[in-house]
Amino acid sequence: MGTISKNFDYREFEQSDTAKRLGIINVIGTSEIRDGIKALVLDVLQPLRDAWGEPLHVNSGYRCQKLNEAVGGVATSQHCKGEAADIACAEPAKLAQLAYDLGLPYDQMILYPTFVHFSHKLNGAQRKQILYNKTYGGEKVVD
Ligand SMILES: [Zn+2]
Repeated sequence: MGTISKNFDYREFEQSDTAKRLGIINVIGTSEIRDGIKALVLDVLQPLRDAWGEPLHVNSGYRCQKLNEAVGGVATSQHCKGEAADIACAEPAKLAQLAYDLGLPYDQMILYPTFVHFSHKLNGAQRKQILYNKTYGGEKVVD
């Protein structure tokens, strides 16, 4: 599938421990999904990676329908469109704050205890929402 940017490639967006465990073939199936991932990386994740200065690990990127159901994702999940990635982080608030301060064009950032969900819409305006999962009890993003 190949390289997207300096630090990201398509393969890591298909990677899923759950898919592996359950024998689900999670592959990017359409050019629209591919375009969605590419835009998410070029507009949000790579600039964030550059400013962060350390590797960012994609916990969950693209999810086919079957995988999305297996992980209990909502039916409308942006992961299924290639428009979202969960980035592992020991300090979610720090990473989210950086994305906010940089003015990156995210659609939603959702903070979880061990990762941040970033989404970016391929078409239409980004909502620039910052949300906190109910399991998250850490620092909040300061505006
Ligand atoms: Zn997510």
